[in-house]
Amino acid sequence: MGKSAEIAGAGFAGLTVATELARLGWRVQVHESADRPRTFGAGIFLWDNGLHVLRELGVVDRVLAGCHEPVLWEERTATGERIGVRPLAARGGLRLVTLPRQRLMDALLAAAGAAGVRVRTGSRAVGADPAGALVTAGGRRWEADLVVGAEGIRSTLRASLGVPTEHVVFSAGACRLLVPRDRAPRAGEMWQCYLNFSDSRSQRRVLYVPCGNDVLYLLLGAEHTDPALRRPLDPAPWCATFPPLRSLLSELPATPRFDRYEALRLTTWSVGRVGLVGDAAHAMPPTLGQGAGTALANSLALARSVDETGDVVAGLRAWEAAQRPVVDLTLEESVRGVSFMYPGPGAPGLDGWPGEAFRIAAHRVPPRRGG
Ligand SMILES: Cc1cc2nc3c(=O)[nH]c(=O)nc-3n(C[C@H](O)[C@H](O)[C@H](O)COP(=O)(O)OP(=O)(O)OC[C@H]3O[C@@H](n4cnc5c(N)ncnc54)[C@H](O)[C@@H]3O)c2cc1C
Repeated sequence: MGKSAEIAGAGFAGLTVATELARLGWRVQVHESADRPRTFGAGIFLWDNGLHVLRELGVVDRVLAGCHEPVLWEERTATGERIGVRPLAARGGLRLVTLPRQRLMDALLAAAGAAGVRVRTGSRAVGADPAGALVTAGGRRWEADLVVGAEGIRSTLRASLGVPTEHVVFSAGACRLLVPRDRAPRAGEMWQCYLNFSDSRSQRRVLYVPCGNDVLYLLLGAEHTDPALRRPLDPAPWCATFPPLRSLLSELPATPRFDRYEALRLTTWSVGRVGLVGDAAHAMPPTLGQGAGTALANSLALARSVDETGDVVAGLRAWEAAQRPVVDLTLEESVRGVSFMYPGPGAPGLDGWPGEAFRIAAHRVPPRRGG
């Protein structure tokens, strides 16, 4: 009989590990504490590494249908003056696409279902036994060859194992919204690009991100102490700071969720037969748009390593040894990005970030099966 895995969290990481293991012949169950798998956020950036994983799982066409893929990323002042340009794939840079998050979630759920993964909703993981068991609320033990904690940044499995953790919470953060694209100005090529409007005086920024023909993703970034974030959210300070975006910012939801940026680094990604992956192991601030992409790539690599090595404990160690350098690099570059994006008055622009090393990380794809 094939091996078995019990996984906590039906997010991007948990569904990826689960699907690949099931495709390799494992019996896999995912425990999701919510009453249905869903994703919080709005839009999402995916780079080459994330797209590669979706191709391997057979869902890349479904994810890419109707997504947005511009040729330029532009840095602009709050009043709209262009201060920097970065080429994207079509002009020799990296491939970057954007889409509504739910589309990515739906595609991963479809892949998991097709592979035979069982998703148990309303099942909250509370701990893990390194000998090979997941424990859910109420004390039920689910024994397995492999246990995976993929339940996000507040991982209960990580806490139950006592893994030493460095956790940084930054003072900056963001509200994320999806708005109909017909509220945006249309005339001019610039509105097809990703546009990062920033105001160095107030430390506010608005990232303008088309996500297809119908919908736009807006990220409103600020220091968490900024009065412009008081509830109910008042559009006036945002419209006053960013005049070119008035038509988009004049109607804002009263109480959008605000997430402070966070980073997490562990001394180890596994204890015995329990592996930790995704935000549970390497959460990063979204300055590079790489948290989910890294979670997807590292989850696929975990599944392949434990299957190929034949021994779960050795497979988890080999996985960490192979993947840790590139994940740490991406994490460090994301953390460095916070001080470039929220630099304080008078600081230079984005010159010098991200470093060339990021190109390597975003291009890096997990090993092929049997490779
Ligand atoms: C403002 C912001 C913008 C971002 N933008 C991007 C971007 O553009 N591109 C990108 O690549 N990344 C981005 N990220 C990062 C990305 O959202 C995360 O890295 C990604 O969601 C991590 O996926 P995950 O599966 O590890 O964790 P999660 O997405 O947190 O999924 C965890 C799952 O586990 C479930 N769960 C939680 N606790 C339990 C429990 N005890 N038992 C069972 N289930 C449980 C949750 O309900 C959830 O379904 C952004 C992050 C932020 C904050």
